[in-house]
Amino acid sequence: MRAYTGDALVLRTYRYGEADRIVVFLTEDRGKKRGVAKNATKSRRRFGAALEPLTRGRAAYVEHESRELVRLDRIEPKGSPFRSTAGRDSDAAAHVLGYAAYFAELLDEWAPENAANERLFRLGAAVAEVLCEGGAAESLGRYFEYWLLRLEGVYPALDACPRCGGSLDAGAALSVTDRNYLCERCAHGGLALSPGAMVFLKQAARRTPAAVGAMRPATGVLRELEHVHERLIAMHLDKELRSARIVRELRPGQ
Ligand SMILES: [Zn+2]
Repeated sequence: MRAYTGDALVLRTYRYGEADRIVVFLTEDRGKKRGVAKNATKSRRRFGAALEPLTRGRAAYVEHESRELVRLDRIEPKGSPFRSTAGRDSDAAAHVLGYAAYFAELLDEWAPENAANERLFRLGAAVAEVLCEGGAAESLGRYFEYWLLRLEGVYPALDACPRCGGSLDAGAALSVTDRNYLCERCAHGGLALSPGAMVFLKQAARRTPAAVGAMRPATGVLRELEHVHERLIAMHLDKELRSARIVRELRPGQ
């Protein structure tokens, strides 16, 4: 048995027996872990709201060599999307929590078990922090998707069309067969990205999450990027994420 303490992001929880919960959390230094939080369902005193998705905190856990599950003793929250919504109206709170769940689910899909990925952790923690501070959730979402795919080395090139070498600044389209963005001349159909979407992507490539959280691009631009990223992520993960659908359903007027 060995005890560890480290920074972590809560990804999700589920019931385990009568009173316990399994907590999936991403540690900064030791990758993704699954831990049993004893009595977490019945007694909220020990964990409180610390088990809400995308909560960041100091996690204390014990590993046992012969067991896959660790024992999660406590999480001392430092930042929590759940707490950040206190005082907001219910639609705004649902919007933030929907995105927090979506980001947590993406991290869960992305992070391998027990393999440290410091860049992934830092990306998740930085985006979570800006979300808690009231940053624009949709801008952060498109930024987060961009960087997840880019860290895997699978984000399409933005500088030039891979078929003809021409600029993509006037607009592009996702070619599913090429898994790339093609210029308007080379693309025949496919999900389109307007010049505004290309500008957003080039900014996302070099801005901090805090700067992106202050960006409010046109709704149309965000929708184009949402559709294209959804397709890229589905190609990468080979499925649609449940929380991506929920985020869409939470949108006003649906
Ligand atoms: Zn071209």
